[in-house]
Amino acid sequence: MSHKAPEPGTAVPFSRAGRSGLVLPRLSLGLWQNFGDSTPFAAQRELVLHAFERGIVHFDLANNYGPPPGSAEASFGRLLSGDLRGHRDELLISTKAGYRMGPGPYGEGGSRKYLLSSLDASLRRLGTDHVDVFYSHRFDPTTPLHETIGALATAVTSGRATYAAISSYSAERTAEALAVADDLGLPLVLHQPSYSMLNRWIEAPGPDGRSLLDVVGDAGTGLVVFSPLAQGVLSDRYLDGVPADSRAARGVSLRKEHLAPENLARVRALREVATGRGEPLSRTAIAWTLRDSRVTSVLVGARTVEQVDENLAALDSPPFSQDELAAIDAVTTE
Ligand code: NDP
Repeated sequence: MSHKAPEPGTAVPFSRAGRSGLVLPRLSLGLWQNFGDSTPFAAQRELVLHAFERGIVHFDLANNYGPPPGSAEASFGRLLSGDLRGHRDELLISTKAGYRMGPGPYGEGGSRKYLLSSLDASLRRLGTDHVDVFYSHRFDPTTPLHETIGALATAVTSGRATYAAISSYSAERTAEALAVADDLGLPLVLHQPSYSMLNRWIEAPGPDGRSLLDVVGDAGTGLVVFSPLAQGVLSDRYLDGVPADSRAARGVSLRKEHLAPENLARVRALREVATGRGEPLSRTAIAWTLRDSRVTSVLVGARTVEQVDENLAALDSPPFSQDELAAIDAVTTE
């Protein structure tokens, strides 16, 4: 069966990553969860092909996504050589290295040794000769930044990656990384931080008074924000207990404190704002992360095709009024 995405940009609009030449769909799909060996391949296939057919052409991976680590890339590779064969150049595929992937000192961090061997292993699992974006997944305080960013530069100049990027670096470390990259003549096209109504760290001023949003905005770097639903908490999902099929019930990354009564009280208050806008909270939560023009794309997760569709509907969410923004601020900033 051949699979076809809609004419690019017709179903899901694109947005430019900072001042680069790269454009991304406003909504991207991450394969951190629901894409390991515990999810049947048929379900993974259905999810990815559905997203692609709806116009989501950016898929975000990392070496360690699964579980077990590596299995998400292996599954995606299976799709690339199967249903998605012939569509490689329509897709934007990102991967990362930084967290623990293998034993010993070469299995995590920011060294040249680890980053480049990990990228080679990612390419083997994906069955492609390059990824479009390669991220340093996190800042490594034990490795000189020059080495980490230099490894990203090698990834690009050797053709293994088309663009270099960083993830979860603080505003201060991002400014340093950008300066090093500049010295090396390497554009850092994207930064990937967490961001949601319950997690607004990228707006907070760093030591020089600039927030991460300011630092990347000044540098012309794009932002791909992850976990806009706070892993599902910013929805109706947990307001009457923990559903058996939920991420919290699986107990891997969504911890009990995320469902503490005071957090759920915030979620209920935010749901009031969403109800006033005539939409479910999840839709408001996703749309809210895109309200700042420095945000290029919002990176959602999904377990079902219905969730993909619901999340795409956020792109048609109405603009926020000043009153709505103030009501959200009142609940989410103390
Ligand atoms: P989200 O905040 O979008 O959470 C996704 C989860 O929320 C789903 O798996 C599902 O959980 C639930 N959900 C999804 N849609 C809906 C909906 N419409 N209504 C109710 N519940 C919904 O993002 P993730 O935390 O999954 O992160 C997204 C991506 O970001 C990852 O796949 C990864 O690519 C990237 N990421 C990057 C990190 C980094 O360090 N750079 C770290 C973490 C993520 P359920 O199973 O309960 O239904």
